Amino acid sequence: MSDQGSDDRDAAQSRYDQARYIENDEYEPLLSEKDLTRVEISDGDSGSSSDDGRGDADGSPLPDDLTRDSLELPELSEPELARHYTRLSQMIYGIDSGPYPLGSCTMKYNPKFTEDVAALPSAAVHPDRSAESVQGTLELLYRLQDYLGRIGGMDAVTLQPPAGAAGEFVGIRVAAAYHEHNGEGHRDEVIVPESAHGTNFATAALGGYDVVSLPSDDEGRVDLEALEAALGEKTAALMLTNPNTLGLFERDITEIADMVHDVGGLLYYDGANLNALLGRARPGDMGFDVMHYNVHKTFATPHGGGGPGAGPVGVVEELAPFLPAPRVRERDEGSKADEAVYERFESDHTIGKVHGFDGNWLVLVKAFAYIARLGDDGLADASASAVLNANYLAEEIEYDVPYGPFHHEFVASAGEQDAADVAKRMLDYGVHPPTTKWPEIVPEALMTEPTEVESKDTLDRLAAAFNAVAGEDDATLEDAPERTTARRIDQTSAARNPRLSWQALADDS
Ligand SMILES: *Cc1c(COP(=O)(O)O)cnc(C)c1O
Repeated sequence: MSDQGSDDRDAAQSRYDQARYIENDEYEPLLSEKDLTRVEISDGDSGSSSDDGRGDADGSPLPDDLTRDSLELPELSEPELARHYTRLSQMIYGIDSGPYPLGSCTMKYNPKFTEDVAALPSAAVHPDRSAESVQGTLELLYRLQDYLGRIGGMDAVTLQPPAGAAGEFVGIRVAAAYHEHNGEGHRDEVIVPESAHGTNFATAALGGYDVVSLPSDDEGRVDLEALEAALGEKTAALMLTNPNTLGLFERDITEIADMVHDVGGLLYYDGANLNALLGRARPGDMGFDVMHYNVHKTFATPHGGGGPGAGPVGVVEELAPFLPAPRVRERDEGSKADEAVYERFESDHTIGKVHGFDGNWLVLVKAFAYIARLGDDGLADASASAVLNANYLAEEIEYDVPYGPFHHEFVASAGEQDAADVAKRMLDYGVHPPTTKWPEIVPEALMTEPTEVESKDTLDRLAAAFNAVAGEDDATLEDAPERTTARRIDQTSAARNPRLSWQALADDS
């Protein structure tokens, strides 16, 4: 065990050494490695006073062994600090560096004005303030519920879940509560197509259901015969995304909805691909009963690296009583109401609370600002450009794209090449690679979603990168990336044996 540990440490150290090439052959040091100065904290600076008799005699409210009188802090000039963060930002690739065609993630550019809106002093409200004193906050939440409801064709919306996956879980728990309420608690199966996102399978399982995996037909869509065979009195729900993860629209969606409803099941919409339909088609109109929205994908709030996001859930009227609490509504003020007044409320059969307070508030503010700025026409333009960009790029690249015609994303096959190597090599051409190796129906999948924000020039640059890599040999690909700050990272060890403190790495040297 300990040998393994030291081997891993050696490997980590050598990756660290390899990666040191920035500026004077050094990795950018931490601020604390640049300078560390011991600063005394005088009594006057401790910022605390204690008249309530709870704390120590020295005036601190904390016991002596929990306080300190000096600490080490870096003392650096403003330019040193600015350069440090600028260098760090140059060592990574982000949405502000170039295109980010990570399929299914909808990594679109996040307009800076939404950050300005979220940074307004009035957006910094304490969540415990009384409803009367935060009417603007409640109005924004109310209007966002309404926007999302209208965009998805849903009757009621909760803004609480903090991510798409969390939204799925809420949606499936709401579906379960609905069945339970109707004396249909024996339904214990959720059907998930094999091309679905991993979170769908996980949601169904965590939600307490048996997962029934549904094969795709030759065209990459739901196989209706297989669906017929899977449906029955045990079916609680079918989870679908439309267009699916291959970027294909489920043309038989109304028939699928009828089939599911005929056996008493519910149809769940995974909203991650809503970017393809925005302002043009609505899941509610297709027969879906419950859906989540990934606002951090479709509505441009920044995401990546695990958050933050928001995964509001919309439902048809029959399911509304089961939504998590609180939601926001307009209060009926009787005769004296010439201005709306908003309040939080809890519906009759709510499944309870799934997040603190009103959800990820500032993420919701950004989504609201984005939708309000684009309006109906802007949203419809966004989906049109997203689809056009995906189809243009798919035409321009030399890799085979086995299924189509598609919507906002497509899945190419790296063929004889390893898709993960292709991805690493693309970094050397200064672009971010697509999602790789998923969905598994396409061998060595390169799942590509350029999003609507990229210009034709950028798409051409992206295509040139794909095509350059397509012509390269395995040895070149296996050595890639060679032009990035960090070279090939051992992701398996990083995940299995995470080193969560920089100090630990430094101590080994
Ligand atoms: C991203 C994604 C999810 C999960 O959403 P998160 O917001 O990342 O939790 C679910 N389904 C599909 C198809 C996705 O692309």
